[in-house]
Amino acid sequence: MKDSSLKSATQARVAVVTGGANGIGAAISSCLAADGITVAVADLDLDAAQALVLDIRKQGGNAFALPLDVSDAGSIKHAFDTVERAHARCDILVNNAGIAGVASFVECPLEIWERVQKVNVTGPMLCGQYAARLMARHGWGRIVNIGSISGVRAGTGRTAYGTSKAALIGLTRQMAIELAEQGITANCVAPGPIQTPLTHAHHSAETRESYRRTVPMRRYGTPREIAEMTAFLCSVHASYITGQVLAVDGGFLAAGILEV
Ligand code: NDP
Repeated sequence: MKDSSLKSATQARVAVVTGGANGIGAAISSCLAADGITVAVADLDLDAAQALVLDIRKQGGNAFALPLDVSDAGSIKHAFDTVERAHARCDILVNNAGIAGVASFVECPLEIWERVQKVNVTGPMLCGQYAARLMARHGWGRIVNIGSISGVRAGTGRTAYGTSKAALIGLTRQMAIELAEQGITANCVAPGPIQTPLTHAHHSAETRESYRRTVPMRRYGTPREIAEMTAFLCSVHASYITGQVLAVDGGFLAAGILEV
């Protein structure tokens, strides 16, 4: 993947990684930058975005911090206007920014439901529209939506979150078929449990024990493991893959009973 021919093919490419400053997004930003892509680290957390940009530049990569709130249509427009003015292109979009919001089906408050759909579904749809228009100019593009195993399997307390990630899978397929003729692929990476600030805040001891029992590999994944799959899907090597959901989950979605 990192041979010199690929490096030269990707040298001029520009990627926008939403929520790119922390957790899984930070690993994706670093991985794409290591592949020679200029990365817009687009995040609410501008301090973390700037710190990551410095780190990427120290490693010899190209990156810049981009203020972005994916729950705000005006902020999305402003961010893509900035990318267009500075680089006149966007070749890769990783819709990674996402929030949880754990509540049972019966108790799930409307505010949590609406907030989660806005960040996890409406944000990726709007970012996808802006990015696809820029990608279409060059007849090449890669969109990767970071979904979740919770978009494929129901999980306790995942009414808002799981439904939003299921919708993101539908959105991925919609993007894939409508953008295919313009040379743009769209795929969804569905992570299993990954060690990040989000899971640190939201996974109880019971949730961790439940994953230890139900993930065949018996461990949480790392942000790097999600980033490697994402970088592959963004590369020239993934040219005939579109509309797919790729689980990176230690075997969770493949599993039935694990004890006899
Ligand atoms: P983190 O909360 O650790 O990092 C998310 C980043 O996105 C943070 O920098 C956060 O900023 C930023 N962000 C949050 N809301 C917005 C917004 N409205 N606009 C722009 N940026 C925003 O999350 P993870 O790395 O754990 O998760 C990343 C993605 O992976 C999410 O879509 C999540 O649903 C998905 N995922 C994660 C799993 C896991 O186990 N960690 C499992 C399955 C899927 P700030 O810190 O300021 O809020």
